[in-house]
Amino acid sequence: SGEPRLIIASNRLPLSVKKIDGKYDVTPSSGGLVSALRGLKTAEFLWLGWPGLAVDPSHRDRVDEQLAKEHAAAVYLDEDLAKDHYNGFSNAILWPILHYQAGKSMTPTVWEAYRRVNEIFADSVSNEARDGDLIWVHDYHLFLLPQMLRDRLQAQGKRCPIGFFLHTPFPADDYWRGLPFEEDLLQGVLGSDVIGFHTDEYKKNFVASCDVLLGSVQVINDHLRYKDRMVKTGRYIAGIDVGRFTRTLEDRKVQARIKELESLYKGKKVIIGVDRLDYTKGLTEKMEGYRIFLDEHPELRDKVILVQIAIPSREDVKEYQDLEGEVSKSVGQIIGKHATPHSTPLLYIHRSVSFEDLTALYAISDVCFLTSRRDGLNLVASEYVACQDRRHGVLVLSKFAGAASFLSHGSVLCNPSSAEGLSESLHQAMTMDEEDRINRHSALRDFVTTHTSEKWTKSFLDDLEKYRVQ
Ligand code: UDP
Repeated sequence: SGEPRLIIASNRLPLSVKKIDGKYDVTPSSGGLVSALRGLKTAEFLWLGWPGLAVDPSHRDRVDEQLAKEHAAAVYLDEDLAKDHYNGFSNAILWPILHYQAGKSMTPTVWEAYRRVNEIFADSVSNEARDGDLIWVHDYHLFLLPQMLRDRLQAQGKRCPIGFFLHTPFPADDYWRGLPFEEDLLQGVLGSDVIGFHTDEYKKNFVASCDVLLGSVQVINDHLRYKDRMVKTGRYIAGIDVGRFTRTLEDRKVQARIKELESLYKGKKVIIGVDRLDYTKGLTEKMEGYRIFLDEHPELRDKVILVQIAIPSREDVKEYQDLEGEVSKSVGQIIGKHATPHSTPLLYIHRSVSFEDLTALYAISDVCFLTSRRDGLNLVASEYVACQDRRHGVLVLSKFAGAASFLSHGSVLCNPSSAEGLSESLHQAMTMDEEDRINRHSALRDFVTTHTSEKWTKSFLDDLEKYRVQ
């Protein structure tokens, strides 16, 4: 037996497993969910997830050993099954609907794969769980897991509270109803004891969908009565590990990098953008807004530079390849029109950058420009604020990012659908007087330092703990 543990289940492990020269290598990786969970300080935890690639059965013992050192265990999936679950259903069908984009039609194979992968997770997690462990399931890849887990744990005589957190938006119920298997997915997630969302709006939308679609659900304030159980729905404000950023900024090498970049961009206003290359991030809209800004303020073309980091994402999917082409084209057009022999107003980096470079870039930038069409939260907004104690830079943030519901008081909110509006927001940010910038920054800073990732995990787990049977 032993002390109760926390078991986390997410589609991907917070590590990257790579095959090099026929051997497998395990290294910690980054990403939204990983960044958010970094603050986790529970005595004992185990993270279960897919390692991200097919692992030859003969190498699995060795990989398991390496993962165990990182508190992780692999849920192995065949390549085709993983692909149909991840690209086929999760990313091609669920992701667009969750972000209010038109969904595609689907084949029965991908739904079967989605179910099957959720079952495989349910087998792994229930076998791993001991009576009394807390189980925390993450995100839209695993909507069916909570109910499947509940059934298995019950059959095994184990009582484990099950929590679920959705890292994406949850759309209005009439949008959700556009999905195939919309009821099965809701019933799956209702197998949880606690269901968490980033914003009140997402929570309200989820409750409305359950209310409209499932006759057997009764809404009682923050709870749903479902199959004689009370399921709690809550909003838990996710944040970042602020200390990790401030410590990195104090590092001698990072300080040197900051000096170097500051002298490189001397006399220029730096605008930073950091986004996964995903159509929900509004990158083409951002480029259009920036193009208009430069067209309208030609005098600023060599006094401003937008540094846009586009983190490669889902590159084996056609829509993402098309998007990459579109963004590259806009980038080329802007540079073609506005670059001069001695300067360019746009720097485009279609690669990941190191954490040290990222923090240095955040620190030297006068404006952070985020134009998501829809975004569950957007951690980049908070990361930028955490790196701006000296410069008091301005956050220009899409009102369609979940983070806008907390950071509106200190940021310049924008609407990515209006290129003119984006241009105006940029101009407002760049011409804002210092007093205004300081006031806004300190309001944002207060929020970001008091709503950390640690606090997020704690508040969720405190609610989940209440479901433990003593
Ligand atoms: N990030 C990264 N690689 C980079 C630059 C940034 O992984 O080269 C991180 C960034 O620091 C942030 C995360 O990626 O923590 C993106 O999270 P966000 O919530 O903004 O968007 P998501 O990718 O989860 O949709």
